Amino acid sequence: DRANRAKSRFLATASHDLRQPMQTIRLLNATLLRMVQHTDMSELLRQQGQAIESMARLLNALLDISRLESGAIEPVNREVRVADLFEELHSEFASLARARNLDLQMAAAVEVLSTDRTLFYQLLQNLVGNALKYTDSGWVRLKCSLESQGLVIAVEDSGIGIPADKLERIFDEYYQVDTHGAKRMGVGLGLAIVKELVRLLGFSVTIRSKLGEGTQVALNIPTKHRMLSASVAPGLVPVHAPVSAAHKPRLILVEDNEGVRMATELFLKVEGYQTLSAATSGRGRVLLLGILPGDIVIADYHLDGGNTGLDLIQRLRERLGHEVPGVVLSGDLPAVRRTIRRPLPLVISSASQWIRRRCWQPSPI
Ligand code: ADP
Repeated sequence: DRANRAKSRFLATASHDLRQPMQTIRLLNATLLRMVQHTDMSELLRQQGQAIESMARLLNALLDISRLESGAIEPVNREVRVADLFEELHSEFASLARARNLDLQMAAAVEVLSTDRTLFYQLLQNLVGNALKYTDSGWVRLKCSLESQGLVIAVEDSGIGIPADKLERIFDEYYQVDTHGAKRMGVGLGLAIVKELVRLLGFSVTIRSKLGEGTQVALNIPTKHRMLSASVAPGLVPVHAPVSAAHKPRLILVEDNEGVRMATELFLKVEGYQTLSAATSGRGRVLLLGILPGDIVIADYHLDGGNTGLDLIQRLRERLGHEVPGVVLSGDLPAVRRTIRRPLPLVISSASQWIRRRCWQPSPI
């Protein structure tokens, strides 16, 4: 028991205290890259950026797998439209697919499931990420079909494939097939995370692959997770309109971590946004007294004194009597999920990506 408690403490500390400085370093690197004119310096920063990304990938994968294995995660089921997940995956991976000259295809899907949205999305993210990583030319395809034993969601690619004698081991932690250059792109934990997620969600996974032709990973979802599509209200459709330079909204940032606040503010300013910032929830409330129509609030979830960014935005909305666009930033999605009982219409992982695409919904969070 003591060892277990110590492990939980370590995980909580690691998630919070390592992810925050990591986020600061990433933002500073991204900001410097935009500011620097000198080609040599840009190249150094790009290399630094790559090192930071691989460190962040390893850290996140290690934390994910430890958290999943510690048994601390309880799936929270709710209605999930497969089409919404596909759309979100498409918007997350489209630019990577373009950069790798691959055709990313999502089949039409009408199915609605009862499952944990966050965990299921993480599962698909890992599979789509792998398919794109291990495909040099051709396509990556997501399909959803109804079979006699339940629903099957398949991620298929026309990639390098996996040798038959290695298929059994690829779900092991840190196991990587020696695939020349591609090996360096991962840390060997993606499929181990997939295995844990599949177990938690009550699904099963099968993989078929042919060397040099491609791979198909199928998630078999038992019928009990299937819901009738008719019982579901239409999902919120994100608005993908580019922000015109002339109409960039003003941003009000509330973030109590000094490093993250400074780096985020700098990054947003370099991106051309007028940004006001507050270091405490109290100071944030004062700033928000002067909020103007069109402003967007960006708040950290865990603020000082046990306050949350969500409360801050909700109280502001109550005071004004109307919706105000707000973004809550957090590396602690489980805590956010515990607080928000109603379904999250949209989970966005990067504020700059969010602002650029303007995926704002006039709805609670
Ligand atoms: P990694 O971080 O190396 O991608 P994973 O656990 O996600 O680790 O995958 C384990 C190994 O399985 C990879 O190193 C790769 O060799 C192989 N693999 C996974 N997905 C695919 C795929 N879609 N096509 C070809 N090989 C794959």
